[in-house]
Amino acid sequence: MSTPAPQTFEFQAEIKQLLDIVIHSLYTEKEIFVRELVSNAADALEKLRHLSVTEKSVFDDKLELEINITTDDKAKTFTIQDFGVGMTQAELVENLGTIAHSGSKAYIKALGEGDQKAAGLIGQFGVGFYSAFMVAKMVRVYTHSWRESEQGLVWSSDGGGSFAIEESPGERRGCKVVVELTDECSEFSHEWRVREVLERYSSFVSFPINLNGKRVNTVQALWLRGKADIKEEEYDEFYKYQAHDSEKPRLRLHFSADAPISINALLFVPKDNTEKLGLSRLEPSVALYCRKVMIDARPKDLLPEWLRFVKGVVDSEDLPLNISRETMQDRSLVEKLNRVLTKRFIKFLDEEAKNRPEEYAQFYKEFGIFLKEGAALDFAHKDALMKLLRFESSLTEAGKSTTFADYVSRMGAEQKEIFYVVGPNRAAIEAGPYLEGFRARNIEVLFCFETVDEYVMGNVREFDGRKITAADHADVKLSEQPRAEGALGEDEVKALSGWLKDTLGERVADVRASERLVDSPAMALNADKLGSPHMRRLMRALNKDGAESPLRVNLEINPRHALIKRLAQLRASEPQKAALVAQQVLDNALISAGLLDDAPAMVKRLYKLLESV
Ligand code: ADP
Ligand code: MG
Repeated sequence: MSTPAPQTFEFQAEIKQLLDIVIHSLYTEKEIFVRELVSNAADALEKLRHLSVTEKSVFDDKLELEINITTDDKAKTFTIQDFGVGMTQAELVENLGTIAHSGSKAYIKALGEGDQKAAGLIGQFGVGFYSAFMVAKMVRVYTHSWRESEQGLVWSSDGGGSFAIEESPGERRGCKVVVELTDECSEFSHEWRVREVLERYSSFVSFPINLNGKRVNTVQALWLRGKADIKEEEYDEFYKYQAHDSEKPRLRLHFSADAPISINALLFVPKDNTEKLGLSRLEPSVALYCRKVMIDARPKDLLPEWLRFVKGVVDSEDLPLNISRETMQDRSLVEKLNRVLTKRFIKFLDEEAKNRPEEYAQFYKEFGIFLKEGAALDFAHKDALMKLLRFESSLTEAGKSTTFADYVSRMGAEQKEIFYVVGPNRAAIEAGPYLEGFRARNIEVLFCFETVDEYVMGNVREFDGRKITAADHADVKLSEQPRAEGALGEDEVKALSGWLKDTLGERVADVRASERLVDSPAMALNADKLGSPHMRRLMRALNKDGAESPLRVNLEINPRHALIKRLAQLRASEPQKAALVAQQVLDNALISAGLLDDAPAMVKRLYKLLESV
């Protein structure tokens, strides 16, 4: 009987792109391929451990759950073998030939565009296996699935555009990955070199690892050890192994609790927020263990959505040991864990903010957006999260921030509300007309620079019983200021406002004298939510009704301003020119508000006005 010829397959386009990047190595630390292959072997063993509880028959079920690595410096090979779940032909094609996850695709695209920062995060996106091609001329994966009826197979590729699969009779259960090293990377065929790499993190791997027949690790769970006995480097290496990150973590929380549920948790915040880099949405990646045995690497509801940036491990003795991923559907335990962990993590951030304000500020810059998301959407933790939010304000220095609580402590007796204004940056807000009236009355205004802020403020609504109000909202009432010298009289204002309303027609809902303006002639106020610049942009992006609906604002004029006084005269002497000026004043106010829709018309008019200078 002749063995069938090898079948060849093309890699999916994204994989080709990935291999190209990996081989021309953006990745300076080539040794991480060892970590990635060990972690795949450990995953495969972990899966098998579960299967052996839930399945009746598992192929070759007497095999040890361990990882064997062998080096051969004559043949220049590195071999790693596990008795895990193995792969069928279909699984080989699926797992080692395509990237199913769309997020990973986006990530690879970013890598392809040379994003160095993203390059360090290769493992996080399920592309760990391909790191072998950084050091390999040829990679062969010998495998037999845990399913009895499947056949032994070998997958092979030189990292070009294709791979081959052929039968390989006599394989035992699991995978054996043979890496034929390039000459430059032949160091990984030496035992001492591989041992050096393994020593750094192998103790975090929950299965025995043997190197050329000798045991290299004692399996121990870092999170179950006493804090005092753990070195800083051990924490860092554990994080790098567990989160597939090449950078050290930014923050770390190691804690245990007994009531209301037993928990040992080791949580980390990475250095970078990859969502901010424009990469795909993060997925929960705090693994759930019961007495050192992994139950789920990515349990969905262990933490709230807004904590999806947290990495690490949670171990609870209270979970039944034979719990399977399916019975995890029994939500009540997970919910309990979720409550305890979330509360503890918020407390941790609160302490960080108090004890290490500089580090907290750095953290906030990178991850603050998640806290805002939580404050806006997670009702149970809203109050606690609002205390963690930070904003610049009209009273802080540029770059320094304040809290809602501090803001409230500075409020005068007569001030009832918390005011904020949204703008692209500090300079733009300070130059705009919205601050003047608040400034003149010594009222602090929070500055919001992020697009989500408007949404967040609209959702949280109040802090400590005080309403949170947009400074540019038409309903804001400020106390009266003494009438300035030479301001237009009440009748004149009334007449001018009436004329403006007629002249500007549909473009304004109302025109009135302002109590808020000090240095600017006029400002546009949001008459409704749809009028806000953010909402309009959003509607336009979504192509929603109302996006292109004519904008109507309330126009407030400053009766003390020279331009407005001049306009009052011009109205009688040169009505045509006065009408142009009126339109221009409105457009200028819309520009300050970020609301001008029709710039070309404005420019045309401005030239006409300039002609008459
Ligand atoms: P990830 O481990 O993040 O899923 P990898 O690129 O490291 O991504 O591996 C891709 C997939 O290949 C794994 O998800 C797994 O299904 C399969 N795989 C890799 N190594 C093994 C192995 N030793 N045993 C069984 N399956 C494996
Ligand atoms: Mg992997």
